[in-house]
Amino acid sequence: MFTKILIANRGEIACRVMQTARRMGVATVAVYSDADAAAKHVAMADEAVHIGPAPARESYLVAEKIIEAAKTTGAQAIHPGYGFLSENPDFVEAVEAVGLTFIGPSADAIRKMGLKDAAKRLMEQADVPVVPGYHGDEQDPSFLASEAEKIGFPVLIKASAGGGGKGMRLVEDVAKFDDALASAQREAEAAFGDKKVLVEKFITSPRHVEIQVFGDGDKAIHLFERDCSLQRRHQKVIEEAPAPGMTEEVRNAMGAAAVRAAESIGYKGAGTVEFIVDGSNGLRPDAFWFMEMNTRLQVEHPVTEEVTGVDLVEWQLRVAAGAPLPVRQEDLTINGHAFEARIYAEDAAKKFMPQTGPLEHLMFPKAGVRIDAGVRPGDRITPFYDPMIAKVTVHGADRNEALGKLRAALAATEVAGTMTNVAFLSALATHDGFSKGDVDTGLIDRDLAKLTDKPETPMAATALAALAALDLLKPRDPQSPWDNTDGWRLWGSAKQGVFLNQGADVVHAEVTTLSANRFGITVADTEGTLTVERTETGYAVDDGTHRAQASVVQHGPKVTVFTNGFAHGFTIPDVLAVAAEESSGGNSVVASMTGLIKAVQTEPGAKVSAGDVLILMEAMKMEHTLTAPRDGVVADVSAKSGDQVEEGAVLIVLEDQGG
Ligand code: ADP
Ligand code: ADP
Ligand code: MG
Repeated sequence: MFTKILIANRGEIACRVMQTARRMGVATVAVYSDADAAAKHVAMADEAVHIGPAPARESYLVAEKIIEAAKTTGAQAIHPGYGFLSENPDFVEAVEAVGLTFIGPSADAIRKMGLKDAAKRLMEQADVPVVPGYHGDEQDPSFLASEAEKIGFPVLIKASAGGGGKGMRLVEDVAKFDDALASAQREAEAAFGDKKVLVEKFITSPRHVEIQVFGDGDKAIHLFERDCSLQRRHQKVIEEAPAPGMTEEVRNAMGAAAVRAAESIGYKGAGTVEFIVDGSNGLRPDAFWFMEMNTRLQVEHPVTEEVTGVDLVEWQLRVAAGAPLPVRQEDLTINGHAFEARIYAEDAAKKFMPQTGPLEHLMFPKAGVRIDAGVRPGDRITPFYDPMIAKVTVHGADRNEALGKLRAALAATEVAGTMTNVAFLSALATHDGFSKGDVDTGLIDRDLAKLTDKPETPMAATALAALAALDLLKPRDPQSPWDNTDGWRLWGSAKQGVFLNQGADVVHAEVTTLSANRFGITVADTEGTLTVERTETGYAVDDGTHRAQASVVQHGPKVTVFTNGFAHGFTIPDVLAVAAEESSGGNSVVASMTGLIKAVQTEPGAKVSAGDVLILMEAMKMEHTLTAPRDGVVADVSAKSGDQVEEGAVLIVLEDQGG
């Protein structure tokens, strides 16, 4: 076994690999960019090496720096995680050229599966069913259109070099083919530098079922399937194992096909063979087709680990160090059911726009769930990398029990400081069709409005926020000596009022303290009496007819109330600042989110009109424009192209209007 390995990755997967390495007595080396100097994966490692600036192409994607870090620290092997360099055959060759071990398949195996069209041709030879379609070299648009007609619409155009759901277009009829082709090619060229596409049959009632395989370079075994049909924009949202409705017959057929795929390329290590399945009539042994093989550890590998009891990273290290496959196929069984939900910093209501910011509060259920997180409370989600916060994985004796645990785990997950998709995941976990195991890749899109619907803030939540704002509630804080004492304050029965901002809305709440834990509360026009009791995890709020569980966290002027799986965020307005802003008539341009300045299109002294675009920002790969708040003259510009700025930073100030 190795005595020291380097992990060429960041975030949760770097932490997850280190955990197993540590258990096996293998020392770990982390690498980090400027943005990650204080990151969890750096803190966890035995050693860490700085490899450059925040952008991945200057740090986590620079093979030479990573290999150099391994050499100087004496690491014998490199684990690539997923993403970044994990499926880059040139990296594998560079690692091996200096005598280090790449923990993963050979460069040759990665290359064979790297392009979807070539992989499909290879799989046909290995007798693995592939989606009917055209995956040859001819790229003439009219030729491809005629192939599409032969296949029969609807068809899917896919970038040969594609990944992460990019460069893919569904085409319903021939009239739309040319436009779809052009746009798929543009996206493919931009994302992968390769505009080659393939055309394949769009499988109706599609389900994504993939097989976890593991090889030793010669023989392979499989660790059953995962169902990843819950997707948004071809990206997985919740995964599970086993697949609902799977039969022994279909499982054996898919498992055998995946093993043939792996063995045909001499696969070594952990990999995933992804199949598209026609789910219109149950799962059938003749209705699954190879889509692609991911030649690495997959994001959703924990669900397989939960139902098989195997630590896939341990197997990766052992096999990379030269050990044979740890078990035989017949030794593996499925125990119970597991789900994984991916928690992202994103705003579901705004088309899942990625969010950045500090994780002022981050709390997961304490027991009965597996949490893979790459961040700790207080860490930041930066615009440089994938905004994943954590993966929540649960295991139960059967699907219903596991799903119940998933709902409970999501309801007990609290994140404040940045918006997350937790409420969306909770809504999904209670979705009727999903609950019944009736899944397909279109489920989320069909019910998107309902799944992203934000419920009205319940009176109890606003009331708790008001009590917190008025300091009538000692926020729960395990570190605080206040927490175990009953720190209620008695204020007599004087009426106190407070304004609370909720996005663009302002609510006014009035509170009368009736006794130590009874309050008369008026929110907008609704009056009520609430009894608020401290519980182990927060508060129980009773309005006389309904008792609800909630918890409250407060950071400066921000109050977040968690109830029913929703985070209701409030800001206590700073009355003085608001007054100043109003009297100035909007004198400044402020960063609307944390991000990168792409361009500044004005300069001091310039005349601007209200609405003029003054600054282009990029956050999470999306462009945002910042405009002039009014007509005026630019007094000061404090940002330049390339700057990384925080949300709320003043970037441009206009001259006083005089008067
Ligand atoms: P999985 O099935 O494991 O989710 P994906 O293909 O969706 O497989 O990608 C897994 C991870 O790999 C993503 O979360 C992302 O971080 C990374 N990734 C995928 N494609 C790319 C890409 N083209 N460039 C950079 N990172 C990528
Ligand atoms: P990527 O490399 O981006 O992950 P995949 O080929 O794995 O690309 O496809 C991503 C997703 O697109 C699949 O999980 C599935 O939901 C959908 N998809 C792919 N091929 C088909 C198809 N032929 N019919 C229906 N849906 C498909
Ligand atoms: Mg895929």
